[in-house]
Amino acid sequence: MRKSKRKGRTETVRLELCDLCAATFAESGAVRGYVPHSSSASSTNDWFDGLRRITTCGAEHFTVIKALYEQRPFVQEELWAAKITQALTASPPVLSITELASRTGLHEPEIERAIAWHNERRSPRRMT
Ligand SMILES: [Zn+2]
Repeated sequence: MRKSKRKGRTETVRLELCDLCAATFAESGAVRGYVPHSSSASSTNDWFDGLRRITTCGAEHFTVIKALYEQRPFVQEELWAAKITQALTASPPVLSITELASRTGLHEPEIERAIAWHNERRSPRRMT
């Protein structure tokens, strides 16, 4: 960061928020990384699909939150549903299953499984 030449002027410090303890701290002290998370679809790069970016106030909290996320089951249908949701909320709107398949990179049976999974979880009459 470039220092200000003006006397008495304060420098801007970017702040971060810890994903574990919610503490606010200077960005320079952040520990970041990715954890597996099947609800996370990247809007910019398919390589990051299924990965969630974590920011913590230190290495200790990163280790704790990483262990918590690793206990969460990775559900393939959840990731497909996240990709579908992303495609459906982007513009221009998706007009057909073929177009949805093209945008998400999913095959139609995968789309059908993802929709079934989504609807099962959204149903207010679910018995499980
Ligand atoms: Zn923390």
